[in-house]
Amino acid sequence: MEIKFYGASAGVTGTCHILRVNGHTLLLDCGMIQGGKRLEAMNKQPFPFNAETVDAVILSHAHIDHSGRLPLLVRRGFKGKIWTQNASRDLCSVLLTDSARIMESDARYKNRKAKPGVAEIKPLYSSKDAQLALQQIQGIVYRQWQQVLPGVKVRFQDAGHILGSAVVELDLQEGELRRRLVFSGDLGQYDTPILRDPESPKRADFVLMETTYGGRRHRDRQATIDEIGEIISAAAETKGNILIPAFSVGRSQEILYQLASNYEAWGIDRFQVFLDSPMAIETSELYWNYPQLFDQEARLVKQQAGEMPLLPNLVLSRSSDESKAINKIKDGAIIIAASGMCTGGRILHHLRNNLSRAETQVIIVGYQAHGTLGRKLVDGVEEVRIYGQTIKPRAQIHTVGGLSAHGDQDDLARWYEGFENKPKVYLVHGEDEGKSEFQDYLKRRCEVTAGISKPGLVVDLAS
Ligand SMILES: [Zn+2]
Ligand SMILES: [Zn+2]
Repeated sequence: MEIKFYGASAGVTGTCHILRVNGHTLLLDCGMIQGGKRLEAMNKQPFPFNAETVDAVILSHAHIDHSGRLPLLVRRGFKGKIWTQNASRDLCSVLLTDSARIMESDARYKNRKAKPGVAEIKPLYSSKDAQLALQQIQGIVYRQWQQVLPGVKVRFQDAGHILGSAVVELDLQEGELRRRLVFSGDLGQYDTPILRDPESPKRADFVLMETTYGGRRHRDRQATIDEIGEIISAAAETKGNILIPAFSVGRSQEILYQLASNYEAWGIDRFQVFLDSPMAIETSELYWNYPQLFDQEARLVKQQAGEMPLLPNLVLSRSSDESKAINKIKDGAIIIAASGMCTGGRILHHLRNNLSRAETQVIIVGYQAHGTLGRKLVDGVEEVRIYGQTIKPRAQIHTVGGLSAHGDQDDLARWYEGFENKPKVYLVHGEDEGKSEFQDYLKRRCEVTAGISKPGLVVDLAS
């Protein structure tokens, strides 16, 4: 009985841990490596196992850095079941379909631009592979034990990170040996809107724990919401458009929920709100259809209103014609569009049209990686290039921290403290610095010395 670290054991993307028990091989997640061309090229490399002999996958949640290589696994011969929470299964059908479509269109584009004689570029996987992977997904509910293989039972608890996200408990049996392994998946913050708080299992022998923000404290969430309110209220006077670049899954729904909850206080009735992203629209519909997974407050909203979000002036723009029509609007529009870091998607068109106007407000609500257009805007560069056009930003750029989908140092430790025993813990899904800072923090606060994962490291679960 052992666990071997493979993906996201250095860095935060490409999560995949290999569990061997009772002669079976299981994967905990099978995510895509993200973060620039050099890293992403690693997705093509062979797996350190034979995909044909993997017996099952347990998927913690639908984010691509956890689910994105499932179609590749299937393409390489994996025939088993992929166990995940029901809402994650539904989100996967949006995200994996989209991921395959992007790869196919990228490959087509590169082949078109390639010089004659250059070998044809093939996508990492096709839409067909994604459909096959989706058929292998088996959705289950939270809080019920499920036998997935002889000697392997699994139970999901809410991780509070995105809809359907799970903390995975594994009950493992090999002859006389019995072990409880807990994989945190990605853990959300406590007291976020819509979602429930992360749940801590009561007992474990070993815990694999994410540490994305293991070295950080988030800004107070309410202060962030208040700041967004101030920006929007003030913008009603200055007469400009408000652009909010946002990830399609999670962040877009939270923004809509906040706009609806503060409809009168923020003067939202003076605006037209556009959700300009087919994927965010699809994801939102999915979110609002899972009230049984909401926290109490959101469930009450859904019960009383019947529909969500309650925004009479919300326009869902699906087609590109609908999106282009927004270009004519010079003031009074709140535009929520992907991508969250302004690296592509429809937000680019809106930035091109609005960035040079002093009355425009851009609200940055998410993390912006180095090198992205979003980061350049945050850093206040003098000019940017969008679709070959040079633009000098004159818009007001507001960076509001505090809306992260990941818990911070305090949240992570609080989750660990939910265990009644003090299980052995290994830190995964974090940069080196975050992991070692969290290791120190956990030692001070909980008197536990956590191990740090490394690719290829094997932990004997019998120990
Ligand atoms: Zn995630
Ligand atoms: Zn993640």
